[in-house]
Amino acid sequence: MNGVIDDRLASVFDDVVRRNPSEVEFHQAVREVLETLGPVIDRHPEFAEHEIIQRLCEPERQIMFRVPWQDDAGDVHINRGMRVQFNSALGPYKGGLRFHPSVNLGIIKFLGFEQIFKNALTGMPIGGGKGGSDFDPKGRSDAEIMRFCQSFMTELARSLGEYTDVPAGDIGVGGREIGYLFGQYKRITNRYESGVITGKGIDWGGALVRTEATGYGAAFFLQEMLATRETSLDGRTAVVSGSGNVAIYAVEKLQQLGAVVVACSDSSGVVHDPAGLDLALLKQVKEVERARVEAYADRRASARFVPAGNVWEVPCHVAIPSATQNELTGADAATLLRNGCIAVVEGANMPCTPEAVRIFAEATIAFGPGKAANAGGVATSALEMQQNASRDSWTFAHTEARLEEIMRNIHQLCHETADAYGAPNDLVTGANIAGFHRVAQAMVALGLI
Ligand code: NDP
Repeated sequence: MNGVIDDRLASVFDDVVRRNPSEVEFHQAVREVLETLGPVIDRHPEFAEHEIIQRLCEPERQIMFRVPWQDDAGDVHINRGMRVQFNSALGPYKGGLRFHPSVNLGIIKFLGFEQIFKNALTGMPIGGGKGGSDFDPKGRSDAEIMRFCQSFMTELARSLGEYTDVPAGDIGVGGREIGYLFGQYKRITNRYESGVITGKGIDWGGALVRTEATGYGAAFFLQEMLATRETSLDGRTAVVSGSGNVAIYAVEKLQQLGAVVVACSDSSGVVHDPAGLDLALLKQVKEVERARVEAYADRRASARFVPAGNVWEVPCHVAIPSATQNELTGADAATLLRNGCIAVVEGANMPCTPEAVRIFAEATIAFGPGKAANAGGVATSALEMQQNASRDSWTFAHTEARLEEIMRNIHQLCHETADAYGAPNDLVTGANIAGFHRVAQAMVALGLI
């Protein structure tokens, strides 16, 4: 990772920018991968002969559709739905659905592009895709959420299938939304096709540990990174951004591994709790009441709420950004280093700006890129698909042990690949090359399709 695209790949990047104008997040994600792939082309000229990188940058299919729905007052709203089926060389398209007002095609394409490499790193038979809508679920009633999900799925259903495309959750899409989406799919198709969506409830085809998987996986990955540096999480101060699905279960596993998590956030501000977060209270506020994070501080004497605060100003040894893309800037990276941070792991997708990643690399602190570190969620989704296919359900302990093993393997693969390509400890390079290599080999084998 040196911030420079190899001459042979520069025209590929120029083409991506020219053909996808104004999709800045997509450009950023492609650039970050291309910067690391030059040495792979040296060793594998066949990938260049088959134009693998050009083909990878063009989604196999992009679907965009109108989502009309009615609110509780009877007023009509129109949102935009989309699904980018990016690459299916390794298996059916797999990736979450995001419901957030900021969603646009460029964001879904950046997420879908990253998903290809992430899914490849898990070693499981899943391709890459992503979808979502600019629908804002905040403040909407259950009935409104249900009507929106039903309208969204009415159109999307024709593009899905357990052997075709298997969505899951992401920002704004949790267990409640997955239920409404699956219910409408079942109704339209008259098929109880459990393997068509993951993140389902335990009583209707879901898998234990899926809810916890991304956050737990990021903490396991952090544990591995620290172990290679002959240290551990025990007694470490941690900060996590966000307070959604990834953040809450990152906090839970960090605490179990001996860290003290002193801050989290949402889009309204930051909670700083030097005594260590009370996880039961945080879950009550965010999962049960669906309230703002400020309600946590209102009920906890040791905690303080900082409206519109910056969570990266809270001193910590380890940080897990778990909210959204580009939430941790170069200035934030400098603040973290100044305060003694020794490791950063991306729980969210692309939460660190390129400048922040460069600053961490120059400081040689441990840095875990999202495509490796947050792959535990999709890996456990693949375990859910396995259980659906065999009509089986595994225990929590068994599934968690599988997740931990998967995260250990991903870390080892990234670490060894970085070494093999002369970039020791550079897990960004290791993750990009290892993920790319697996997809590229499959694409060559499947021919020009
Ligand atoms: P949730 O919707 O459960 O939680 C998102 C959290 O981040 C909320 O606290 C939210 O605050 C905050 N947030 C979202 N957008 C912004 C923003 N623009 N500014 C500030 N805060 C924001 O989502 P998830 O936890 O599922 O996802 C978080 C990240 O992890 C995303 O990048 C996602 O792509 C990634 N990820 C998720 C996986 C999963 O299994 N869920 C798997 C792999 C990656 P508020 O409520 O105020 O908006």
